Parts: sequence; structure tokens; C-alpha cells
Amino acid sequence: MSHSTRCAACKSLRRRCPQDCILAPYFPSNDPLRFASVHKIFGASNITKILQQIPVHQRAEAADCMSFEATSRIQDPVYGCVGIISQLQQQILNTQCELALTQAQLAFYNAQQEAQQEKPMAQNQVQYDGPSWFGSNQQDSFYLDQPLLDNHQPPGFL
Ligand SMILES: [Zn+2]
Repeated sequence: MSHSTRCAACKSLRRRCPQDCILAPYFPSNDPLRFASVHKIFGASNITKILQQIPVHQRAEAADCMSFEATSRIQDPVYGCVGIISQLQQQILNTQCELALTQAQLAFYNAQQEAQQEKPMAQNQVQYDGPSWFGSNQQDSFYLDQPLLDNHQPPGFL
């Protein structure tokens, strides 16, 4: 093997790159930084061990994943890629809240529209008039022990 055909890993580790080098497909010589960051965070022997433990068809993805994790850890030494995951999870939570709020508003407006279209007599029936959802047996109701529910509001509006 000539020097020009060594993979980025073997070049960095100053060793001969064997024909069946496990790192060569995932750390090409034209991208030395990719191996440098993964090597800095995981260590060359750990990268090799991880790749050896998984099927060949999953190794490219694993190498990409290690590269991403290493780059994130170098950019953000405290949180690494967990910082990005937390940000994305927070975005999901915010969006879910927004969606729930919008669906509740939609349901409210739909109910209001339906109530307006019905006869005045029927309108009384759709109005909420007390804690009927508690059930009639208030003696052993678990919910009545909760101080937040003392004002008899449905749980969604506390
Ligand atoms: Zn190599």
C-alpha cells in the first residue's frame, strides 16, 4: 500500500492500511478531520470495536453517528449531542401544546356554532352546569380529596 491510499485513520495512526481495513470505508483519506474528531472523543480502538460488533450494512450509519456525536461533543463539551436532542424535544413539546390548544379552540368554536344553530330550548342542554362528571357517589370519590378540584372545574381547565 502506498501512502496515498491509506485511509484517514491509518494515516493518522501512522500505520499501514491493510487491504481489509475496517475503518477505510468510513474514514476516507480526503476527510482527515472526520477521523480526527471521532478519534479524539471515542479513541481509535473503541471505534474499531464498535464497528466490529455490528453487521456490515449498519457500519456506515454507525460511523456517521459517531462522527456526529464527536463533532457535537467538541462544539459543546458539556452536553454534546444531548443538547441538540433536548432542544428538539422541547420543540416537539411546544408544538404539541400548541396543537392541543388549537384543537381545543377549534372544538370550542365548533360547539359554539352548533349551539347557535340549535333551538333556544336545546341550548340549555349543552351548557355545563356543575360537576356531573364526578359521579353521584361523593362519599368515596378520590377526586374530591384533591384541593385543586374543589371549585368543581373539569381537569383540563385548572
Ligand atoms: Zn485504514
